[in-house]
Amino acid sequence: MKFSDSEEVPTSKPVSTSRHAALSPSRVKELRQCPLKFRLRTINRIVEQPSKSALRGTLVHRVLEQLFTLPQGERTEEEAMALLEPSWEELCESPIHDTEIFESDKEFREWYASARPLISAYFRLENPNGLVPVGMERFVEAVLPSGLAIRGVIDRLDKSPTGELRVVDYKTGKSPNPRFQDDYIFQMRFYATALQFAEGILPMRTQLLFLKDARTLTYDPPAESVHETVRELEDAWEEIEHRCDNDSFLPRESPLCNWCNLQHLCPAKGGEAPETSPEGVEHLKTAIRPVP
Ligand code: SF4
Repeated sequence: MKFSDSEEVPTSKPVSTSRHAALSPSRVKELRQCPLKFRLRTINRIVEQPSKSALRGTLVHRVLEQLFTLPQGERTEEEAMALLEPSWEELCESPIHDTEIFESDKEFREWYASARPLISAYFRLENPNGLVPVGMERFVEAVLPSGLAIRGVIDRLDKSPTGELRVVDYKTGKSPNPRFQDDYIFQMRFYATALQFAEGILPMRTQLLFLKDARTLTYDPPAESVHETVRELEDAWEEIEHRCDNDSFLPRESPLCNWCNLQHLCPAKGGEAPETSPEGVEHLKTAIRPVP
């Protein structure tokens, strides 16, 4: 492990042309929260330093993914704790994860120890020995009838003995107050819709496991939810196209600004935003695929 002693210098990633764009649940959530934030991240592709809590989330996800490679009966809390170190080493070696964000050894050790209670909490929510996953970190991509491409990554997909699917997603934060559950339920509707269009199967159940306070949010998507979600995604895309055509990705201030890493590029916070990238817009519009 190395430690960082430098301040974050925002840069922008080159626009990848290797694959077409697609809407994901997090992009839609960002658009709804703040159009400028959406534009800076998705179109300008500003690279942000990963937060320590996001890195902890990646580590815990990796441990839980590896847990299910063990045979049923061996998926114990002790085994999961033993997976922490190899999972961390793997992240350190990965070119896509920036693990050099700690100021001191003490800070790193406290952070590393804080992953343990999250792993323990997982075992209070379910017994992994009785589960049969048919996918871990399952990439799902679909094209809606309008030609709009959508994609996401499902943490775990389980299949019951009678063939029903269950989508499971891990969250290392706290469960939301019921007044703020809509974004989370949207994420579950999104995955259900993507599976329906990609594989022709509507999952019977979707669940978010919140590890900070060991709570589960369950949503069983009815067939009508697919139509509703398609309509919402197409509305979001229409809004994106309108904002691209008018270069109108305006800042939308809210209490969430307190957690925004892009304040220094936000005119509402005294910063100066870069121009909208024309290449970024062009790439984003590849989310509309030719309809056969
Ligand atoms: S600081 Fe607030 S208004 Fe500005 S980009 Fe971030 S979320 Fe949007």
